[in-house]
Amino acid sequence: MKVIVVGSSHGGYETVRGILAAHPETEIQWYEKGDFLSFLSCGMQLYLEGTVKDVNAVSYATPAGMRAQGVHVYTEQEITTVHPDRQTVHVVNHATGEERDEGYDKLVLAVGAVPFDLPVPGHDLENVYAMRGRDWAIKLKAKTVDPAIKNVVVIGSGYIGIEAAEVFAKAGKHVTVVDMLPRLLSLYLDAEFTDTLTQTMADHGIQAATGQGVKAFEGKHGKVTKLITDQGEYPADLVISAAGIRANTGFLKDVVALDDHGLIKINDYLQTSDPNIYAVGDATLVPFAPTGQPNRIALATNARRQGRIAAKNIFGDQVTMPTVSGSSALSVFDYHFASTGIKAGTSEKLGVKSQSVLVTDTAQPAFVPDAAGNAKVWFKLTFDPADGRILGAQIMSKKDVTANINTISLAVQAKLTVYDLAYTDFFFQPGFDRPWNIMNIAAQKAIDSLK
Ligand code: FAD
Repeated sequence: MKVIVVGSSHGGYETVRGILAAHPETEIQWYEKGDFLSFLSCGMQLYLEGTVKDVNAVSYATPAGMRAQGVHVYTEQEITTVHPDRQTVHVVNHATGEERDEGYDKLVLAVGAVPFDLPVPGHDLENVYAMRGRDWAIKLKAKTVDPAIKNVVVIGSGYIGIEAAEVFAKAGKHVTVVDMLPRLLSLYLDAEFTDTLTQTMADHGIQAATGQGVKAFEGKHGKVTKLITDQGEYPADLVISAAGIRANTGFLKDVVALDDHGLIKINDYLQTSDPNIYAVGDATLVPFAPTGQPNRIALATNARRQGRIAAKNIFGDQVTMPTVSGSSALSVFDYHFASTGIKAGTSEKLGVKSQSVLVTDTAQPAFVPDAAGNAKVWFKLTFDPADGRILGAQIMSKKDVTANINTISLAVQAKLTVYDLAYTDFFFQPGFDRPWNIMNIAAQKAIDSLK
């Protein structure tokens, strides 16, 4: 069997690992159009802040390591066309200019996405950057220590934009985060959480400019100097655009079925409209547990799950992609937060009726001093008012209690209700938590609210 895997980030890496583990005799050709194998953007903040010193360390695989395991690794080689009828791909070698065709038995597309380029005047000015991939990581790192960069404007307040804002605020720059939505991080957290986080960011020199749309970038001598929105103007020596992503699927238009956003349509087994071609990662949709409907949740965790499943199914297994809850976590200065599933603020857009309860408490019994690690916790549980089914949750604290959200993710996936969660056995030890876990308390409060 000859398998061609296109793309070397999370989806491609996990596919190759999965094939090697179960079918090491497979002829694997692994293509990456960039000059570096398997850069992991998830580690970019750690590199930009100096926790990880070497940009090349932000990776799980090296060409030499993978070749030693028998994988044919091709970097700087792009798949520009696929011919499903002949089961061949066209390869362009960007290092040599040579071109060739390669045949496959199965093809796995892990082509991912690129940052969305806002189509406004001035978007091509110098110092308008993005935050994804190794090349941008290196360029951004240089700007963190460039004294000419005083004002940084970040467009987009998802977790990528907030990571960028924190990096540059810690580097001593004045940062403004612009978003067309009314609150920072509003797709991840409800207002009870973002009010505190927005204040924390303001305390660290990050100004929120929400509820406004970008109109243009203005510049001098070819370099950006200002960002103009429908409500104001913001000085900018550097703009970091983190306003969404666009799937890398231009070359697949007449090859496999794509949706209106250019995402590759796949079935439960991750097969595209051509049964010999599979697709995984950010260029696809995943089944969202609270609704059962396909949803765009561009996370490494989903690309990994899909890669592992594709690696099985290309050999004839019939593993289906499980539903996912869209769980994510982030630290914002002293705070750690995580969320999963549906929030009060996102349920209407998803056409779901929901009800929520908020619990604030200390993580450990009140007699444990903050100096010993105790801290206030905010926990919000969202559920279906008709039957109490758990739809999602959010948590935030200066103590790292984010792992609770993984429990709720499982509850959402398993279609558990607040009645299941109210008396679930969670451990108690004052060094860790309280006699009633905050998830129990929230579920009990939810039951009261349903009476
Ligand atoms: P991508 O990562 O988009 O990679 C696709 C690869 O395919 C690229 O290297 C591209 O060059 C290559 N390629 C594309 N087309 C071709 C072609 N025709 N020929 C050859 N090669 C091609 N997710 C989390 O779960 N947790 C996190 O903490 C997290 N942090 C993040 C932080 C940042 C700053 C960013 C940008 C993303 C973060 N993510 C995180 C999201 C995560 O990085 C993505 O979901 C994940 O990388 C998607 O993997 P992928 O394999 O689909 O594609």
